[in-house]
This record gives sequence, C-alpha cells and structure tokens, in this order.
Amino acid sequence: IADTVLCSYISAVGDGEGDALNKGGDLAVGLERVREALLGNGLQGGGGCCVICLENMSPHDSVWSCGGDDGDDEIEAATIDADVQSGCYYVMHLQCIQSWARQSLDVAGMAYAPALERGQFPGAAVAAQAAARWSCPSCRKERRRDQLPSQYTCFCAKERDPPFDPWHAPHSCGEVCGRRLRGAGCAHRCLLQCHPGPHPPCPVTVKAACFCGAAERTVRCYNQEFSCAARCDMTNACGHPCAATCHPGECPPCELEATYECRCGRTRERRACASRDFGCAEPCGAALACT
Ligand SMILES: [Zn+2]
Ligand SMILES: [Zn+2]
Ligand SMILES: [Zn+2]
Ligand SMILES: [Zn+2]
Ligand SMILES: [Zn+2]
Ligand SMILES: [Zn+2]
Ligand SMILES: [Zn+2]
Ligand SMILES: [Zn+2]
Repeated sequence: IADTVLCSYISAVGDGEGDALNKGGDLAVGLERVREALLGNGLQGGGGCCVICLENMSPHDSVWSCGGDDGDDEIEAATIDADVQSGCYYVMHLQCIQSWARQSLDVAGMAYAPALERGQFPGAAVAAQAAARWSCPSCRKERRRDQLPSQYTCFCAKERDPPFDPWHAPHSCGEVCGRRLRGAGCAHRCLLQCHPGPHPPCPVTVKAACFCGAAERTVRCYNQEFSCAARCDMTNACGHPCAATCHPGECPPCELEATYECRCGRTRERRACASRDFGCAEPCGAALACT
C-alpha cells in the first residue's frame, strides 16, 4: 500500500535519488515521513492505539487525524507559518477527540460560571466561550470551537465516511490528496494518493532567481533559494559594491581596505571600509564648549 500511495509522487519526480535538483535529500526525507506514517508510528490508524482511550484502532473505526490543514484549504499559503500550524498527524478515534475537545471547552467556559450565576459580566462569559480553545492530546496544537471535528472523513477530507478498501491505506479515499501545500511561494497541491502524515515537500520544478537576482535556474519549488556563486555587487550604503558571493539577506559589512583618517584627523590608518570611523589613542585636544 505504501508503494501505491507514493507512486503518483514518485512517477512525477523520480524517487529523489540521483536527482541533481534534490539538494540535501529533502524529497527523500519527506517521502520517508509519509512511508513511516503508512507503516506505523500511530499515524496510520490501521492498527496501533488511540492516544485518548488507549484502545486499538481498527481500519473500520471512525477516526480523526491531527493534520495541519483544518479545512483552511484556501488560505493564502504565504500567511501560514508551516511549523506553527502543522499538527502531529496522529490518528485517534473521532468520538474520543470529540469528547476530549468538548471537555476542554467546557472547562474553559466554566472559569466564568460564578460571575454568570450572580448575573454579572454576561459579556465576559460570552467572550470566554469564544476564546476557549481545545488542544490535541498528543501535540497540544490549539484549535477553536468551530474546528472541532464533526465528521469522519478521509485524510484529504474529500470523502465523508470512507469505506475500508483493502487496496488503500485505512481511512484513505484513494484519490489524489490535492491539498494546498504550505511552502514559501508555493501555490501547488499535493500529488500523493490521499495519505496519513504530512505532505512531502513540493517537487514541482519552477524558475527562480538567485539571491542577487543575476541568475535564473530551474529548481524544485520547496527549495527555490540558491546562490549563483558570482559576486553580489550590490551597492552598499558606503557606495562600494558588495564583494561577497551571492548571498541571502543583507550584504555583510564592506571589507574594502583603504587609508582613513581618525575622527580628530591626526592619525591615518589602513582599515576596512566598515570600520573607517575610528578614534585614535592621542588626546584629542579640541576645545570643549565650556572653555
Ligand atoms: Zn479512542
Ligand atoms: Zn496533534
Ligand atoms: Zn481522501
Ligand atoms: Zn510548490
Ligand atoms: Zn498530501
Ligand atoms: Zn546571484
Ligand atoms: Zn565600503
Ligand atoms: Zn551583497
């Protein structure tokens, strides 16, 4: 099953091995995470036990997966911080997470019960209800009341109450996942068959410019940033061109050496441009304002 889920992705990109564009092997690592999710680690829901009731889960049970999507599929990818938003992808019984979430929401709402009983601050109680959060028992990711799972769906959420099919991973609809990926500058969708665990890095090839903007290359979407290894040459505030090789972020301090005068003008030294403003060890001797 793991291989059928991965095959749509692998046929699109190769399996990551021997891929000249695949620096650092991130694609292979991403695939490995999905493979692990399919085979074990409590992510797959096909066996293993529910973190809430500690009972075994069968492929026929209604489950919920702590994913990173939460139905916000169409939210601009750029507004989402991938690390903060992603869940742990653990699979647990739907009923278990529902009662777990309701209990945490009730506790949060109860904090205002005494004020309510005395007829005070009904506004505060309403606000407390709205602000109440429930969190995943495994990773503690917080969610709002309206994100409480109400239905059993497949991992990609396209199919409600997916029937168990021995040819697919449990709780998978068997269709292409198709969820929006969250990488910086990525507007693509996941190519895997509906799967547990995180979406692997986006393998689509795109044209991207290097840090300095001088070169363009075809790169993998998930890893668009690169250095062209030529001189950056951006003009620094001092007026000199940057001598560093094409780099991310701000240009480093200007290293251009020349002879500069100290602040009082009595000493001349050979120094880097960035530290051209210096005081010499001589007493300055300039008249103070009070004399
Ligand atoms: Zn359970
Ligand atoms: Zn979680
Ligand atoms: Zn699905
Ligand atoms: Zn992409
Ligand atoms: Zn996916
Ligand atoms: Zn460059
Ligand atoms: Zn300079
Ligand atoms: Zn530079």
